[in-house]
Amino acid sequence: MTDTYPPGVQEYIQRGEALTAAEESRRAAMRAMKFDTIAVHGLYGMEAALANQGSIIEPTYLSPAQHFENSDHMEAALAYLMPAWAYSRVANPTQHFLEETLALLEGYGCEVATSACVTASGMAAVFMATNPFLSGRAPMNIVASARCYGGTFMLFQERYGAERGVEIRWVHDPLNLQEWSDQIDENTRFLYGELPSNPGLAILDVAAVAALAHEHGCPLIIDSTVATPALLRPLCHGADIVVHSLSKSITSSGMAIAGALIARHDLPSHIGTDEMREDFVRYVKLLPYRDHGPGLSPFSAMMIMNDLRTLRSKMDLFSRNTMQVARFLSDHPQVGAAFYPGLESMRDYALAAQQMWLVDGALEDGAPLNRYGHLMGFTMRGGAAAARAAFDRLQLIWRATDLGRIKSIATIPAISTHQQQGESGRELAEVPDNLIRMSVGGEHPDDIIADLDRALTGA
Ligand SMILES: *Cc1c(COP(=O)(O)O)cnc(C)c1O
Repeated sequence: MTDTYPPGVQEYIQRGEALTAAEESRRAAMRAMKFDTIAVHGLYGMEAALANQGSIIEPTYLSPAQHFENSDHMEAALAYLMPAWAYSRVANPTQHFLEETLALLEGYGCEVATSACVTASGMAAVFMATNPFLSGRAPMNIVASARCYGGTFMLFQERYGAERGVEIRWVHDPLNLQEWSDQIDENTRFLYGELPSNPGLAILDVAAVAALAHEHGCPLIIDSTVATPALLRPLCHGADIVVHSLSKSITSSGMAIAGALIARHDLPSHIGTDEMREDFVRYVKLLPYRDHGPGLSPFSAMMIMNDLRTLRSKMDLFSRNTMQVARFLSDHPQVGAAFYPGLESMRDYALAAQQMWLVDGALEDGAPLNRYGHLMGFTMRGGAAAARAAFDRLQLIWRATDLGRIKSIATIPAISTHQQQGESGRELAEVPDNLIRMSVGGEHPDDIIADLDRALTGA
C-alpha cells in the first residue's frame, strides 16, 4: 500500500525503516543487559547522543512541534510511516526514551514483547488502559478487585458504572478465585486488579487470575504502582496490561505527576480491531491518546527518567526500612494490627513471598531475595479519634496523601484518599476509619521509629 506514495515520500519511508531497524537492534542489545543497566541507559546510546551534541543525558525537548525537512517528510511522518513525533500531545522524544525504558523493565526477565505509553497522571493511565475495551453495545461488565485505589474505584463505579451503564462487578476478596470466576461471562470486557493494593495491601495471584481471564478471552489489567518492576513484573506472570501512577514509587524524589500503561503484544479481547489486539499501546498512542489528549510534559518525563535509573536500589532500601518499621508497629501496644505484605501474620503472606522479590537479587543459596516495598498500614487501638491524635503528633513523618517517596509520609485514608467513597465504599475496600497508611522512605529507620513511638504513646 505504501507504493501508492510519490517517490519522494517513499524515500522517507525507507529512511524510516532504517531508523526503526536501528532502534530495534538497540532494543535487542539492551534486552540482554541487567535491570539496573537498562534503567540507567534505556534506549539512549552513543549514536543517539552524537545526534544530540554528544550529550550523555537524554535531551529534554520542550518544543510542542517538530520541523519537517519538506512536504515529503511531513507526509511520510504524519501517515505514521516513519518514526517521527510531529506534536508533543501525540509524541515527543523525551517521552519516547522514558516509554522505551519502562517497556523494557516491565518485560525484564521474560519473553514478552511490550510497549509503553506515558500519561499526564496515573488516573489518565488507568483510563487509557480501560476505556478502549468499553466501546460497542451494552450489555457489558467489568470484573474488578474492590481492593483498589480510591480514584480507580470512583472511575469505575461513577464514571463507567453510574454515568455510562457499565456493570461493575466487584471482587471483594481478590484471593478468592471462585469469586473472580463466578462473575465472568461473555459480556465481560476485562479483569482488573491491584497489588499490593493502596491502601489495603491486598495481594492477588496474578498467574491464576490471568488464566481465568484468558479462558474467557479477556485481558487482565494490573495496577502495579506500589510494587514497581523492581519487585514484581505482572506481565511475566501472565497479565496483559500494567498501569502505574509514576507520580508514586517510580518518581521517588516526588517531582512529577504522571502515569504509564505497558502492554504485551497480542493480547486477548472480544472487542476492538486486530490492530488493537496486536499492539494495544501503539493503538492507544496513535488514536485514543491523540484524541483524548492525556500527554505528559517532556519536562516531567525527564524528572521521572532521572529517578527511574536508581529504582532497584531505592526499592531495596525502602523495603528494608519498611520491614523494620512494620515489625516495630506490629509489637506496639497502641496498635491493633499492622499490615505489610512481608509480615508472616498476613493471610496472603505466602502469595506475596512467591511474587515479590528484588529483581536481580538473590541470597547466597540462590533463593530469591524477598522485598515487599514501602507501603504499610496499621490500625490504632481506641478508634478513629486515637488514630487522628497520633497522626497529629507526628513531627518527622509528613502528613500527606502520596506514597513511594524518599520522604516518609502517613495518611488516614478514611478522611483523605477514600473520603468520597462513603462508608459502604470504604467497607467494600476494607478501609476502616482508624487505619493509618504509611509509606516509608529513605530516612534512617531508627528516626522513623522514634517519631512513631512518640506519636503513638502521646509522649
Ligand atoms: C496514586 C495512585 C493512582 C493514581 O495516580 P495519579 O498519578 O495520582 O493520578 C493509581 N493507582 C494507585 C495504586 C495509586 O496509588
